[in-house]
Amino acid sequence: MSEASRVFVPSVSEDSGTSIGLGVFSSEETAWSVLRAFLRKSHLMELTRSSIVVWDVDVVGNEGMTTLSSMHCRDCPVCKRRTFWVDLEHFSAKCSGTSCEAWIEESTIEPGKIDFGWPPTRFLKQCQSVEEALVDLRILGAEIEAAGTTPGQAITSIPKE
Ligand SMILES: [Zn+2]
Repeated sequence: MSEASRVFVPSVSEDSGTSIGLGVFSSEETAWSVLRAFLRKSHLMELTRSSIVVWDVDVVGNEGMTTLSSMHCRDCPVCKRRTFWVDLEHFSAKCSGTSCEAWIEESTIEPGKIDFGWPPTRFLKQCQSVEEALVDLRILGAEIEAAGTTPGQAITSIPKE
């Protein structure tokens, strides 16, 4: 086995500014699965950011470093927990909260359009802007709350559009 010439380093930062390293991995896939598994615990912690940085081994200084992904944590528009991870560079956002997983993404079929959804009810919609998607998801969240169901419990009614 040859030594890795590039390593993938996922990490998260807490509100307090403390950075938590999640390990050093030889493949991007492993780094992502470690980070995703950790983000599922977001609601138990005060997290603000996450990143995956690629380091070329044996290169001195910043030249050897590339940021692969950088995400910010916000309050989820649907479940209201601080579990909504937003990637500002390649716009996409997804809630890592249990039984929620609300998401927003730029359409791959129609560039410029925004797709968003909420898997528990197979809710899926398209709109013109991220702001619009956030407004709609907040309405959805309010409807779920009004119906007396919160993510984490079984959803018994499907919110109307
Ligand atoms: Zn959520």
